[in-house]
Amino acid sequence: MLCTFSRLYREGALYLYLQPALVAIVYYQETYKQHAMVNIPKTKNSFCPTCQHHTENKVVLYKAGKPSITALGKRRYDKKQAGQGGQTRPKFHKNAKTTKKPVLKLECTVCHKKTQHAMKRAKHIELGGQRKTKNAVVTWKS
Ligand SMILES: [Zn+2]
Repeated sequence: MLCTFSRLYREGALYLYLQPALVAIVYYQETYKQHAMVNIPKTKNSFCPTCQHHTENKVVLYKAGKPSITALGKRRYDKKQAGQGGQTRPKFHKNAKTTKKPVLKLECTVCHKKTQHAMKRAKHIELGGQRKTKNAVVTWKS
């Protein structure tokens, strides 16, 4: 079996034999895998409120900062929570959502003003990934 396979491979017949399967795999990846992910370019034209017109913006994903322990709400909560009496304010447990709304941080390349842009819900997000082209041509190395 192995001998015949290697012989076929040497002759290039095995490649021809497996090509439809490979094409199907690539097609599947092109159509379904990329749909599951939102792809965002690293630079984008957007309205800048200080420049008062559209400028090129650098795109970064917003991430929440570390919560401050000296903030008034946190100090008040800690004071209420201290001592006996258990949990004083309700903790959120019934989290039903499996996705998040990604927020883009846009920085104007002209005046360096930073603006935020909330997107629709997405499971996966990719910054500066490969662009999907219509009627993508699958090329094969011979
Ligand atoms: Zn600007």
